[in-house]
Amino acid sequence: MQNHGNLFRIFLTTILVLALSACATERTAPPSGLHLYVFNCGTIDVLDLSVFQPGIGKGDHKKLTDSCYLVVHPKGTLMWDAGLPDALAQTPEGKTMMDTFVIKMPKTLASQLKEIGYAPESIKNLGISHMHFDHVGNADLFPHATLLMQKEEYDAAFGPEPAKYGFDPATYSTMHSNPVKTLEGDYDVFGDGAVVIKRMLGHTPGHQALYVKLPKTGNILLSGDLVHYTDNWVNKRVPSFNFDKEQSIKTMEETEQFLKANHAVLWIQHDLEQNAGIKHAPAYYD
Ligand SMILES: [Zn+2]
Repeated sequence: MQNHGNLFRIFLTTILVLALSACATERTAPPSGLHLYVFNCGTIDVLDLSVFQPGIGKGDHKKLTDSCYLVVHPKGTLMWDAGLPDALAQTPEGKTMMDTFVIKMPKTLASQLKEIGYAPESIKNLGISHMHFDHVGNADLFPHATLLMQKEEYDAAFGPEPAKYGFDPATYSTMHSNPVKTLEGDYDVFGDGAVVIKRMLGHTPGHQALYVKLPKTGNILLSGDLVHYTDNWVNKRVPSFNFDKEQSIKTMEETEQFLKANHAVLWIQHDLEQNAGIKHAPAYYD
């Protein structure tokens, strides 16, 4: 009986070790090919919708989501936008900003990355659509990532008058220490045309979007804040706080042509309803 007991224990231990190593392999080995993960990086309750659509919906409420993304390419990784700060998760009732937004973080980005086996410190590139507080909240999770930003955005955010552009340096204080690559146009991140930062000015001085060509899913443009929700996209409305209204309209029109020419779909990062139909991590698109 003693021998049988020992054998049984060895058997169980072997099974356990095999199961654990399989699990570890699954979590740490990067997927082959191009993958796009979508994260919920917070929610924003808007208390006066007319901020986004001047003259319409004064006092109306609308809930927005705040998306961020991880692109995994055979040549490296790119985090696209950094959402609201993880520290906000400790305040479930949320925080009110500028009397107009109630911001919440239902689940930290750090925990969402951990779930898919990525340590934030290992991420190679951090593309920020623009420097508003709801896109830089977790930039401090990625201290080694190279910032990929348009030169105008960098100069506005790190120059003498960031508040003039609606930027609060306290929300991105650690980004001073990141390596930076400033851009003056579109930028092909991994050199094969699959992941391209698109210069799309207007919302802020150096606003940009991310174009991803996925072999199975198709071509996707991650909007940044080119537009905040579908109704504004359809009607080409410009929020009152945009940096340059004329440029914003021009960029939206050009983007519409770009999407048609490339059979691409627009994923609007703040659109709660559209995001409800998009798979979020740990699922991914390839
Ligand atoms: Zn935003």
